[in-house]
Amino acid sequence: MSGEKKLKKARGLRREYRLAATVCVILLFLSLLVLSAVNKIHGQVRIYTSDGVSSLNVRVQHIDLGLNQDFSMPVLKAKYTGITFSSAAKNIPVKASITELSSQEEALSLVEQYSKEDKDIEASVSSIDTTRIGFYAVSMKASYGKKKAMMYLTVDVKDIEPPVISLVSDPEHYTSPVGHYEEEGYTAIDDVDGDITDQVYSEERDGKVYYEVTDSSGNVGRAVRDIIYKDIVAPEISFADGAKGFVNLGDSFDPKAGVSATDDVDGDVTESIQIEGSVDTSKVGICQLVYKAYDKSGNEASLVRQIRVRDPNKADKDPTDKVIYLTFDDGPGKYTQQLLDILDKYNVKVTFFVTNQYSDYTNLIGEEYRRGHTVAIHSYSHVYSKIYASTGAYFDDLNMMAAVCQQQTGVTPSIVRFPGGASNAISKKYCPGIMSQLVQQLPARGYQYCDWNVSSGDAGGRTTPSVIYNNVVEGCSSHSVSVVLQHDVHDFSVDAVEDIIKWGLSEGYTFLPLTDSSKMVHHKVNN
Ligand code: ZN
Repeated sequence: MSGEKKLKKARGLRREYRLAATVCVILLFLSLLVLSAVNKIHGQVRIYTSDGVSSLNVRVQHIDLGLNQDFSMPVLKAKYTGITFSSAAKNIPVKASITELSSQEEALSLVEQYSKEDKDIEASVSSIDTTRIGFYAVSMKASYGKKKAMMYLTVDVKDIEPPVISLVSDPEHYTSPVGHYEEEGYTAIDDVDGDITDQVYSEERDGKVYYEVTDSSGNVGRAVRDIIYKDIVAPEISFADGAKGFVNLGDSFDPKAGVSATDDVDGDVTESIQIEGSVDTSKVGICQLVYKAYDKSGNEASLVRQIRVRDPNKADKDPTDKVIYLTFDDGPGKYTQQLLDILDKYNVKVTFFVTNQYSDYTNLIGEEYRRGHTVAIHSYSHVYSKIYASTGAYFDDLNMMAAVCQQQTGVTPSIVRFPGGASNAISKKYCPGIMSQLVQQLPARGYQYCDWNVSSGDAGGRTTPSVIYNNVVEGCSSHSVSVVLQHDVHDFSVDAVEDIIKWGLSEGYTFLPLTDSSKMVHHKVNN
């Protein structure tokens, strides 16, 4: 090769280099131009799947538009949770899609849009289980001529359905205008968490009850209940302290004296009291009066009161010294017949505070009465939780036992002994203050109550007749008038009676049954 030729070739090469360098500079300029038109996307994109229950949540943090490595086609670059995914997209309209993405467009529609606008781009969401919460990868495939690229998005399947609270509602369920709503019930079911009833929070406010529950994904379910107010509670009839259940022969008796009625909503409704029956004070006996009171909503209270007309001159003149009142509670029962026979043997009259606990022996109440003993009321059921639930419940139990005695003996008893005595504190558990109310209300209804001052000690566990005997003898020896507590449902107590009588008679005591005019023993009220 000649020197001239070599020079020509060198010049040509220099020209080619210069051209190549120029092309490079142009390409670099173009790429910078495209890169400067970057679209940045921040925020969340929500995809709603066709099952309508769950949602797909694509969190696209950042998508850039750029060029691929050999500058042959545009590249879609998406950043998700710090990882960069790349995909090729043939058409510039991708730009429009990206813009929509930035406005929280549904991501699935983006996927669909790719598929529609460019047949070369397809998306797959088949790997997403929309029934399970979690993160899933979605791939988008794009092709440009023979070149192919993929883009991945991470999809977050979330529970966006709030739990549903269903309220149980009875149209006949009423709330007192002065009371609080008593819950009728509800359930809370969530499509993902299941039964979340125990997580419901409720609050009563302005005549409504508001319920709220939050599922594990933070969706809040709510319900509101309108409270139906209506006064369905009857007023209460009560007697003033000192109102008496007896009247002396010939005296006048005012059935309205000391009687009042109070309603929880209307307050004092004494004016509404109506009285059925009358008291004939011209002859000795028991008169029954029925009191009725009404509130403004028409609720009726009813109460039966017995008034004893008595002859003050014929009242028993009990000796005041060396008297023993033997009293037997909780029967009649298995050992009552045996006791009646022992008492007959010594012609001793006692007092039975009867119950209906052993209905096989109910006929013995009549037998006790016919043999000259005093039949007094203890309780129908003798179940503390029932009888001391309220004053109303107590008097219901008392009235039931009075009816049994009336049926057995033909007369209504006038003496009562509270289960546990007037001093019992167990009633506090069921109704605080009930004993104070009962000792005040009882006399007006024609009853006196009698506790005891000598305990035989037969109410606890099993013991022997000699222990009972010693307790009674010791107790009676220290009182001029003794009211002895025994239970004729315990054989060991009944077995002690004969020796007690023998001792009492030999020591000059008089055994008497309690009567209306006996001095009643009263315990200190503890509730
Ligand atoms: Zn008892």
